[in-house]
Amino acid sequence: METNDAIKTTEEVLISIVISLYNEEDAVFGSWLGLKNELTKLKGLCFELIWVNDGSNDQTQQIIDEKVIKNTTHNIDHCTIEFSKNFGHEAAMIAGIDHAKGKAIICMDADGQHPPSELPKMIASFLSGTDYVLMERTRREDNGFLKELCSALFYKTINKLSSVKFRHSASDFFLVSRQVAENLKSHYREQNRFIRGYIQSIGFCCEVFPFEAPGRVNGKSHYSYVQLMKLALGTIFAFSNKPLRISILFSVLFIVFTLLFGAYTLYMFVYGNSPPSGYTSIILLLTFSFSMLFLTITILSLYFEKAIQEMRHRPIYIIKRIKFN
Ligand code: UDP
Ligand code: MG
Repeated sequence: METNDAIKTTEEVLISIVISLYNEEDAVFGSWLGLKNELTKLKGLCFELIWVNDGSNDQTQQIIDEKVIKNTTHNIDHCTIEFSKNFGHEAAMIAGIDHAKGKAIICMDADGQHPPSELPKMIASFLSGTDYVLMERTRREDNGFLKELCSALFYKTINKLSSVKFRHSASDFFLVSRQVAENLKSHYREQNRFIRGYIQSIGFCCEVFPFEAPGRVNGKSHYSYVQLMKLALGTIFAFSNKPLRISILFSVLFIVFTLLFGAYTLYMFVYGNSPPSGYTSIILLLTFSFSMLFLTITILSLYFEKAIQEMRHRPIYIIKRIKFN
């Protein structure tokens, strides 16, 4: 493996860590203590912690200002980004990556589910030449049977539909090199986002590590089943055009069906004793054709909706305040 440019220099290497926060008042200070404990052990490196407050309406920001930043240590700088409202986890990660100055950027959650004890090996992998490091969950304490089943189904579907093969258990705990980050910043500005998907689709040299995700420090996941469903559909539309082509298949099937049915009706009319009942055949034909038509229109509308969203070019996030300490 080639050595990354980052370690060819004699200066300290700057690593950025992006932490997304939405109403994490119970977890943020504990996450900071865990991070500080790990980061102070790493020699020859300095860190920039980017706290992205995604429109929290609890005490998260006050805790960062009063307890985290005031309690910092020599090799750690802080940047706090406050959004004007809640824009979602993906937007928070994008904002963090946009503002990071490090040679490598790590994204992680603030709820204790991404253990800081994994950071040394992620950074070591980057320093030895890896462009991005994906952390793959072997087990997730707070995932029930239904969530696991939905997730397995989603990855089966997307891997069938898309040319990109996604890793089933990849998480939003990952490291990207500056080069990968620049690509994400310049070319992946879609409204409909799935960062860990983009990363897996752009090539470069990757290493994957397994990790066990503990339960949340407090509270529950911000992703409801409806939000997960939206994310899943959005990802399918962003990475595959195959559902659009399904309408071609429907048209062919329908033409074959109509030809056969027409030939049969004509034959029975000319040679048969009793031609097929008009009512049954018309109902059959109508219900079949309408269901195909509506299904095709639905698929088209879903793509169209995503296309309109992209055309509007609205901001992915809006920053209310940004501070460097
Ligand atoms: N998060 C965020 N914006 C949101 C929802 C979540 O920044 O709208 C943050 C949240 O504070 C946490 C991370 O994203 O640090 C992951 O969120 P969560 O734990 O709810 O997701 P899960 O672990 O269930 O995937
Ligand atoms: Mg979580």
